[in-house]
Amino acid sequence: MKKTYLMTPGPAPVPPEVALKLAQPIIHHRSDEYHAIHAAVVSGLRNILGSTGDILPFPGSGTAAMESAVVNTLSPGDTAVVIRCGKFSNRWAEICGAFGATVVPVDVEWGRAVDPAAVAAALAKHPAAAVFATLCETSTTVKTDIAALARLVKPADALLVVDAISGLACSEFRMDKWGVDVAVAAGQKGLMVPTGLAIAAVSGAKAWRAVDQSRMPKYYFDWKRARVSAGGNETAWSAPASLMAALAQSLDLILREGIETVLARHARLAHACRAGVTALGLRLLAPDAPADGVTGVWAPPGISGDALKGHMAAKYGVHVAGGQEQLKDKIIRIAHMGYADTFDIITAVSAIEMALTDLGHAVERGRGVSAAEAVLSA
Ligand SMILES: *Cc1c(COP(=O)(O)O)cnc(C)c1O
Repeated sequence: MKKTYLMTPGPAPVPPEVALKLAQPIIHHRSDEYHAIHAAVVSGLRNILGSTGDILPFPGSGTAAMESAVVNTLSPGDTAVVIRCGKFSNRWAEICGAFGATVVPVDVEWGRAVDPAAVAAALAKHPAAAVFATLCETSTTVKTDIAALARLVKPADALLVVDAISGLACSEFRMDKWGVDVAVAAGQKGLMVPTGLAIAAVSGAKAWRAVDQSRMPKYYFDWKRARVSAGGNETAWSAPASLMAALAQSLDLILREGIETVLARHARLAHACRAGVTALGLRLLAPDAPADGVTGVWAPPGISGDALKGHMAAKYGVHVAGGQEQLKDKIIRIAHMGYADTFDIITAVSAIEMALTDLGHAVERGRGVSAAEAVLSA
């Protein structure tokens, strides 16, 4: 028997109540039964996003939601200011480029959060149609101060488009209050359903004016079409009805726990995880602006990050993520995203202690666990 512990920042684990929904008989996506599920998902997401805007779910991974945001808000030749602070935020630049927008990058050292003043300077120099930001940059485990960005984007008359895929339901996000025009999400992170659901949230007249004026090519991702269908609690094309039923269930779990409680739980787990790994003498990848749903840790000198990750999985069944691109083999990323609680942190920190010792980097057994416990039992 091999028990596994999924601690990757997408896909993230799914609660049993949600998994059971996926075992129900298939329903048709143009039926009253589906309409009720769709309406529940829209209402739950509005609650979690803090928005009264339009919620457009459709089949796809998170990148589909990102692409839909670019092709529905921009026209070829438009200027897009893109905060590039890791692999996922760089994807905004790649998508914008692929569809003919002019990208003005604001580059940030990996592991650091953007200085809003750098975005203000880019906007002053390059009048832009939109600013693309990332709530949680999963590759560097950095959290961005979206409220601060929103304050400076608003007077510049650009749209603020936020990738909230791995940040939603882990970190605070207040779409309407902060003034975020467009946000994208996906099911397989803090929303606790399997991969396959992409979500676009579009709020306010400014956002819809941009959508009306957008001249980028689109068909499947056409938000105007999606909005008409959403009016009847449907999607434009076949809905992933089973995933939507699962999401309705997980949103119900989140809202019954209370979004503030859910966010506090993530903050506590993140704090405990950081306390545990730093007590082992390990360095955090993002010490200044750490995310709430995932923690990045440098592998100690002489130890390969991928070997550490591989050993944790092979010997202990604990699956964490490694580093991507320039961070490949240098770090591990421990997710505490969605269906995560106290003993997930104890498990992860304990597995790191044992795996490091196995790999010849001796650490004091129990030291990281003890530091994590001190936070978790406080
Ligand atoms: C997971 C993730 C995505 C989307 O990735 P997909 O593989 O397309 O689902 C985008 N942005 C961030 C920040 C993510 O964590």
